[in-house]
Amino acid sequence: MTTGRPWHPERLFYLISSARHFAKELQDAGYQVEYVKSKDTISGLKNIVKRYGKLPISCAKPSSFKQYSALQDFGVEFVENDFFLTSRELFSSWASSQKSHLMENFYRKQRVRLNILVEGTKPVGGEWNFDKENRLPPPKNYKWPAYLTHDRDEIDLAVAKELNHTPKNYWATTRAGAKKQLDYFLKHHFANFGPYEDAVTTENWALHHSLVSPYINNGLLHPSEVISAALKRFEKGDIPIASAEAFIRQIIGWREYVNGMYWFLGEEYRSNNQLNAKQNLPVFFRDSSKTQMNCMRNVISDIEERAWVHHIPRLMILSNFALISGINPQQYLDWMREVFVDATDWVMVPNVIGMGVHADGGTMMTKPYAAGGAYISRMTNYCKGCFFDPKKRTGEDACPFTTLYWDFLDRNREGFSRNHRIAQQLRGLDRLSDLPELRVRAKEVIKRSGEGTL
Ligand SMILES: Cc1cc2nc3c(=O)[nH]c(=O)nc-3n(C[C@H](O)[C@H](O)[C@H](O)COP(=O)(O)OP(=O)(O)OC[C@H]3O[C@@H](n4cnc5c(N)ncnc54)[C@H](O)[C@@H]3O)c2cc1C
Ligand code: SF4
Repeated sequence: MTTGRPWHPERLFYLISSARHFAKELQDAGYQVEYVKSKDTISGLKNIVKRYGKLPISCAKPSSFKQYSALQDFGVEFVENDFFLTSRELFSSWASSQKSHLMENFYRKQRVRLNILVEGTKPVGGEWNFDKENRLPPPKNYKWPAYLTHDRDEIDLAVAKELNHTPKNYWATTRAGAKKQLDYFLKHHFANFGPYEDAVTTENWALHHSLVSPYINNGLLHPSEVISAALKRFEKGDIPIASAEAFIRQIIGWREYVNGMYWFLGEEYRSNNQLNAKQNLPVFFRDSSKTQMNCMRNVISDIEERAWVHHIPRLMILSNFALISGINPQQYLDWMREVFVDATDWVMVPNVIGMGVHADGGTMMTKPYAAGGAYISRMTNYCKGCFFDPKKRTGEDACPFTTLYWDFLDRNREGFSRNHRIAQQLRGLDRLSDLPELRVRAKEVIKRSGEGTL
């Protein structure tokens, strides 16, 4: 997973340096460690077998179908993967009993099962979900707390040299550093996590997000310790329930749900393309300077810098663009896997194929997350400095999101006609008087995004 594809150097640096630090910690604790460099896991295991003979090999159930079958064929013995709070079997028994797989229903069950923010079977604060109090746009004249930086040590520098990369200081590569990040979040950001969770601003790259996903995904932090620490902090009494509930929902709800769905939906799910989306990935996804769209340029250059942007840029900017411009879902998925520091198969496949680009026809989400420039203009400060106008649908300076949003509804009108959750948006489409010009402009926008001139 380090060669053969244009992996983001910060992602490679983070994963390899964390592994090196872990090997060193085990050695320091008295374990015998063989650190093998090989082209893939199976070749590495063959190397070990050659040197040590046929030892029994135990392994936590891996986090992708591909690795699972490769290791199974090799004859390893699996133990439960304890990076999650819900076993694959338990999730599957819940999902099999449901007509639709609403995350919110799963989450409520989790709250009761794990006894988190509940009094008996009732939610603390009287509501299961406080998002109607959240979802605020970016605040004006707000002082964002500084984010933690992580000093690089000798192991980091050695890994960076091998990768020919100058390491940044955004990501910790040790368990101690990951714990520090969690503590820092709880101290400085937790209280305001909820209200600005969906906001995006050029004034601060992380806002009040926790930045713990890379650590929970590679095992430097366990989800149960993140939850215990958050609950302990909440019990002090100065964290609003809307923030505490929102953060806890991400971990015991969304994260567990996405992993459960990955295994429940099966290996073929990743190949879905039910909207028949065929465009190639636009040039600016690999080079942020190749677009005048202020939102895209900022989000992609943030990714170029640190291999991370928060949930809303991933969903409402990157995936929204891929959805409404009809980018091939598998090309887009490959790109997302390569450029994010926290990407792994179990988490990217459902988030991209199901939630991001609706390529599964609605198995996961009842409605596509499609939006025009008005949403981006409300929830970010990108539009102010942009060449395009979020209110315009046609013309040279029409916002590509606004044009493509209506064109997407128009192109998929028939397919969506039976979905009552999109009915209102389709009625809006019926009221447009400039649909013929809009269709022409949409073709132009898609052509230009392919050429890198949008
Ligand atoms: C298209 C798309 C792709 C995504 N790809 C990834 C990915 O490759 N890896 C990844 O860990 N998350 C992914 N997410 C989920 C989410 O965007 C990130 O977990 C989050 O931005 C990480 O930053 P944070 O730790 O500051 O999160 P916070 O906003 O502070 O949330 C706390 C934690 O909740 C969990 N979480 C929240 N939402 C999700 C979700 N939808 N799926 C899984 N876990 C969730 C994460 O562990 C996260 O660390 C994706 C979301 C979308 C829409
Ligand atoms: S006007 Fe359109 S392209 Fe420009 S920043 Fe706003 S949403 Fe993005």
